[in-house]
Amino acid sequence: MDKKENQFSFQVNSVEKNFLHNFSIDGCPLFSERLEEHLVAVSRGESPAVGRFCGFCFTPTGPNTEICGHCQNNFLLDKKTVEIVPLAVTEILREQRKIESRFVNGFAYFGVLLAVLGGLVVVLGIPYLRDHLIPATIVYALILLVGVRILAGVLGGYFGDNIGYNRARKRTIQSWEELKTAVE
Ligand SMILES: [Zn+2]
Repeated sequence: MDKKENQFSFQVNSVEKNFLHNFSIDGCPLFSERLEEHLVAVSRGESPAVGRFCGFCFTPTGPNTEICGHCQNNFLLDKKTVEIVPLAVTEILREQRKIESRFVNGFAYFGVLLAVLGGLVVVLGIPYLRDHLIPATIVYALILLVGVRILAGVLGGYFGDNIGYNRARKRTIQSWEELKTAVE
C-alpha cells in the first residue's frame, strides 16, 4: 500500500523530477562542467558568448541535440534552448569562485602565520638557539621554508578548498533557487 502511494506521488511530481534525476545530490543543475568551461572561455575572450544552450541548466548543446546531456531537459517539450547564458548565471559563477578563493587564500595565510609563529616558538624554546643567533637564524629559516610550504598547502589546498567549496556551493544553490523563481 505504501509502495503504491509512493509511486503515485512520484508520478505527480514527475514534471519537476525529470529535471532533477541526473543532478548531483543537491538537485541544483548549475554548473555543468561544459557550462563552466564556456563561461570561463567567454570571460577570457576566447569564445563567443552566443551559441545554443539548454533553457534550464544553460549547458552548451549541439545544433541538433534535442535533449540536454546534463539535465535531460527536452528542448521540444520543456524549456527551449536559449542563445546566450543570462548574465545572472555568470554572476553566480563569479560569486562561487570568489568565495572559494577567499577560503583557499585565507587558510593558506593562516598556514603561513602558523609556520612563522611555530618557528619562533621552536627557536625561542630551545636554550642553545636562544643564545646563538646564527644557528637560530638557520633553524628558523628551515622551519619557515618547509613549514610554510606544508602548512599553507595542507590548510589552503585541502581544508580551505573543501570548506570554501561547500560554502560556495550553498550560495550557488540559494542563488539558483532565487533565479528559478524569478524566471518561472
Ligand atoms: Zn540542461
